[in-house]
Amino acid sequence: MTFHPDTLCVQAGWQPKNGEPRVLPIFQSTTFKYDSSELVGDLLDLKVPGHFYTRLSNPTAEAAESKIAALEGGVGALMTASGQAASLIAILNLCGSGDHFIASGALYGGTTNLFSVTLKKLGIEVTYVDPNAPDDAIQAAFRPATRAVFGETIANPALTVFDIERFARVAHANGVPLIVDNTFPTAVLCRPFAFGADIVTYSTSKYLDGHAVSLGGMIVDGGRFDWRASGKFPGLTEPDPSYHGTVYADAFGPAAFIVKARAQLMRDLGAAPSPMNAFLLNLGMETLHLRMERHCRNAEAVATFLGRHPAVTWVNYPGLPASKDAALVKKYLPRGTCGVIAFGVKGGRAAAVRFMDSLKLAAIVVHVADARTGVLHPASTTHRQLTDAQLAAAGIGPDLVRLSVGIEDAADIIADLDQALAVVGQ
Ligand SMILES: *Cc1c(COP(=O)(O)O)cnc(C)c1O
Repeated sequence: MTFHPDTLCVQAGWQPKNGEPRVLPIFQSTTFKYDSSELVGDLLDLKVPGHFYTRLSNPTAEAAESKIAALEGGVGALMTASGQAASLIAILNLCGSGDHFIASGALYGGTTNLFSVTLKKLGIEVTYVDPNAPDDAIQAAFRPATRAVFGETIANPALTVFDIERFARVAHANGVPLIVDNTFPTAVLCRPFAFGADIVTYSTSKYLDGHAVSLGGMIVDGGRFDWRASGKFPGLTEPDPSYHGTVYADAFGPAAFIVKARAQLMRDLGAAPSPMNAFLLNLGMETLHLRMERHCRNAEAVATFLGRHPAVTWVNYPGLPASKDAALVKKYLPRGTCGVIAFGVKGGRAAAVRFMDSLKLAAIVVHVADARTGVLHPASTTHRQLTDAQLAAAGIGPDLVRLSVGIEDAADIIADLDQALAVVGQ
């Protein structure tokens, strides 16, 4: 039987056998017992599936991985300790020193730091392209050493919508896969594999967890990229000396990428999630479909309210009919976009600070995408060391407020914003 995404949110993953717990248990054990050393040898050689050490795999994490793989329509997934670890491992699984990749210029700030600073120190170079650049400009960024293309379905915090199908086409014409960070819409609202993406990554710390209780990341393998035909990925098509000469593409077929990510990179880098966090993630995902629907409905109402308010200078929400990305939203996100809105408060930095300090329901938090409404004023918090000119260069105006709309009653969120905007208007 095949199920709809809403059913997969609730049911996919943990499948108890006769007499086992109905609810996913927390397998809080680093290690797993076997009756013969031969069997442990076979497990270590990847000849038989099974858990032996939680750095490599754990049954609680495996259940969360199976649920997201089912939701995305992938062949397998790897849970990581954070979203940053997922981005790092996804890139390192394709690129080594001397290699290059292309990324959309509209990315999460932490991802930009990882790509521009830390990967550079490892000898991996990135070129950023405007997500709205024409095909020939994207093509011009390719080099012989290019090994991947990376973008965010809806960028955090710019909220730009990524043209997945177009970037996939250009990436594939150059024999490399497309990686899409699907953190903001989640698989409930957009499934990048359906549009040609090859790998999906997540910060599960956001909507998948949904309650701001546990950090986590996911890498999902779509299983359709032909590593052999490309000829650019010897790490997948030639023997791995650290695994007795295993050739991942031969031994694991369509799951070669995700098996290598686990067997080689998770083994060596150790950015493994705790079983407790995997349990909390699984619990969060069981209501993902209900929460995303409500986040979107509330955000649409709030964005419409803000757009009409005289103390608000501009509103950026991809779900508004007048959004600059309306055509892309129609194609990729017909059921909704996300709960995050950016807007400007009349009066610039000082007014934005006064507005923030006047809020009663919406909390000031350096986080987005959880059940509670939260706000952030980058100019006075995360980006406070920058001058107004530097902020403008980063695409963050001094008046910009990032609002993460929660799943409370929309009328209460709007009433709170209204009273705080009235303070600013005085
Ligand atoms: C938060 C975030 C990340 C980083 O994830 P962490 O779980 O905080 O490490 C990566 N990508 C996007 C789009 C994010 O919003």
